[in-house]
Amino acid sequence: MSLFAVLRLPREILFGVGQRHALASVAGRTGRRALVCTDTRFAATLEFAEMIAALEAAGIAVLVHDQTLPDVPRDTVASCVEAARGFASDMVIGIGGGSCLDMAKCASLLLAHGGGLGDYYGEFKVPGPVLPLIAVPTTAGTGSEVTPVAVVSDPECMLKVGISSPYLIAAAAICDPELTVSCPPGLTAITGADALTHAIEAFTAMRRPGDPELPQQHVFVGKSDLSDQFALHAIRLLGRSLEKAFADGSDIDARADVMMGALAAGCAFGTAGTAAAHAVQYPVGALTHTAHGLGVATMLPYVMTYNRRVAAAEIAAVGRALGLDPAGVEDEEALADAAIGEVSRLFAAIGISPTLASLGLPEERLDWTAEQALGIGRLIKNNPRSFDSAAMHSLVRAAYD
Ligand code: NAD
Repeated sequence: MSLFAVLRLPREILFGVGQRHALASVAGRTGRRALVCTDTRFAATLEFAEMIAALEAAGIAVLVHDQTLPDVPRDTVASCVEAARGFASDMVIGIGGGSCLDMAKCASLLLAHGGGLGDYYGEFKVPGPVLPLIAVPTTAGTGSEVTPVAVVSDPECMLKVGISSPYLIAAAAICDPELTVSCPPGLTAITGADALTHAIEAFTAMRRPGDPELPQQHVFVGKSDLSDQFALHAIRLLGRSLEKAFADGSDIDARADVMMGALAAGCAFGTAGTAAAHAVQYPVGALTHTAHGLGVATMLPYVMTYNRRVAAAEIAAVGRALGLDPAGVEDEEALADAAIGEVSRLFAAIGISPTLASLGLPEERLDWTAEQALGIGRLIKNNPRSFDSAAMHSLVRAAYD
């Protein structure tokens, strides 16, 4: 039982088929002038045209910025903010994949507080409220619609960088599974595997009583009984439906499960954090330009295997949530092994690369990858089993081929 728990979520979460039609009503309660951040793909859809028409019919002035790029290059945020400068927006709406939602978060931050993005890299650097955000995801993966995080790429930083602050949590998240039906199988797989990795890393994270290095108002940020409930719910839904959504993208029940799974995983890791699979993906992504979800998922079975010695009970619980039959497995250790096997099987079935070599990581960069991963202290500290240099080098070597 946790002695402490923190859960920070949007004020409103609307979930369900057709909920995108509620955008104008939610926005009408939020402001009068909306900067809408999306990308050229979604801006060309009928759904987008309908959403913009509904906003305008509700008397909301709209400025559309449709130039979001995957992984949110820093300069694209500056261009978005420049374009919006004279518009005097009083809310920002992000519609699209995690990149569009993170673009909206960054724009609302800079429009409210000025400066450059680099001023806010890291945790708790945002000085106060940003413009109210409404997040409408069109992928089911990142959980950005509910998390306090925005991730960007910056040519001056070798690895991707995050801005983490409770002020970056959207005021409202509107999750409509119909918006994910157009995701091709590869994108469904990568984003869904991202969500499962969030949920499993949040659930197996180090349980810690509080971090004295954090400012007093944030004393406890980490895994708790509350985040565990969201994580287990996510694992159940993704275990039951990710393969179905991959095999038949028009299966709306499977799409709904996967989107709810991604949302629940976001609720879990938004407070519990993620761990070593994410730490290794940062340098791997920098070297190979692998999509975030693919890199973290490739690492997950190796990290679970490494963690099994100290977290067998938690990994066994992951197995139960994935629907493994406890009656067929002799003990908790065996169930933990079966859970790792099931995650590997599921990822293979949806085409996740099984090794770092297959992601294109050059073998001569393994040592650099391990050193960089070790340097991401917040993720390494959150892993249930600690790492020294030798342990991280062997993890990366094991995952290589
Ligand atoms: P994405 O937003 O980068 O989009 C990838 C591609 O998918 C784009 O070309 C986009 O146009 C397309 N796409 C989006 N929705 C689609 C749909 N419904 N149909 C067809 N194509 C569609 O992908 P993502 O995985 O959602 O987001 C990844 C980004 O999110 C990365 O930058 C990652 O670091 C970040 N991230 C953020 C958080 C967070 O909490 N803020 C968490 C994890 C990852």
